[in-house]
Amino acid sequence: RDLVSPDAEGDEQAVESALRPKRLGEFIGQGRVREQLSLVLESALRRSRPPDHVLMSGSPGLGKTTLAMIIAAELGMPLRLTSGPALERAGDLAAILSTLSEGEVLFIDEIHRMARPAEEMLYLAMEDFRVDIVVGKGPGATAIPLEIAPFTLVGATTRAGLLPAPLRDRFGFVAHMDFYDVAELEQVLRRSARLLGLELPDEGAHEIARRSRGTPRIANRLLRRVRDFAEVRADGVITRDTASAALNLYEVDAEGLDRLDRAVLGALLRKFGGGPVGLSTLAVAVGEEPETVEVVAEPFLVRQGLIARTPRGRVATASAWTHLGMVPPPDAFG
Ligand code: ADP
Repeated sequence: RDLVSPDAEGDEQAVESALRPKRLGEFIGQGRVREQLSLVLESALRRSRPPDHVLMSGSPGLGKTTLAMIIAAELGMPLRLTSGPALERAGDLAAILSTLSEGEVLFIDEIHRMARPAEEMLYLAMEDFRVDIVVGKGPGATAIPLEIAPFTLVGATTRAGLLPAPLRDRFGFVAHMDFYDVAELEQVLRRSARLLGLELPDEGAHEIARRSRGTPRIANRLLRRVRDFAEVRADGVITRDTASAALNLYEVDAEGLDRLDRAVLGALLRKFGGGPVGLSTLAVAVGEEPETVEVVAEPFLVRQGLIARTPRGRVATASAWTHLGMVPPPDAFG
């Protein structure tokens, strides 16, 4: 399922950094977030003070890392990158915090996966630019306060709801990133094609955009696969037919559903009569981790109006039955 996985893997990261917009003005879509952010940054620059901490929430591949880099670039400050899973002990975080320079931007990806002791250290650091280093163990342990340079934290999470409230409340600005619409993805694709030196007619861009699940990372990836196909099987020009033939070959269907999405939907319809069924039961039925189904497949299926979340579990909508060419049982919708 590599092709439409929203995570970047292996050498993809090198291609991605070449395609990343470097300044806010180049960043496509997310109009509201862009405007709010530009105000936050502008006013910080005028006051010559680091801006409030920024939390970005949204599905993988929507541009959170890119925006963090842009924030640092717009402030003219260096950026330090780390991630929640890398911060297993408070000491891992202390090592980073104590070496930050004034005004530096610290990006913590997957901040909801940080270990508890590191998280507690971060509260104090965010609020007072101070950490307490605990020396020794048991009754003789002492906390030595250590001042750290004022910095800006940029946190990214796939869902703001995953963060404990005390952490969430310490961010001055929360940016909710939405999926991109087809026109915005066409813009992303045209920009990438230009940077990669590819010829991309509008009809080709449109065909790729509508199968990209609202996600720039996936759009860029599909573009590269379609390019391969166009170069080998056609004359290099990405027409609508070439794009569509290439994507059919890679099992990305006309609505952007891939094999996992169709497996989840298929199981929901065939094995559970359209639901309601719990997420973990559904995950077992398709042989995946519940988290993969919840983070990767479900948000897109919900957004496409194919499944709905209810208090009793996941249910298929009428469109789901149509999409898979099936007829719902007579009692399916009450
Ligand atoms: P996230 O951190 O949310 O997983 P990234 O910031 O790594 O996502 O973005 C993935 C890729 O998508 C980047 O390489 C970038 O080229 C592209 N991208 C994301 N958002 C945009 C955007 N608004 N405009 C143009 N390209 C974008």
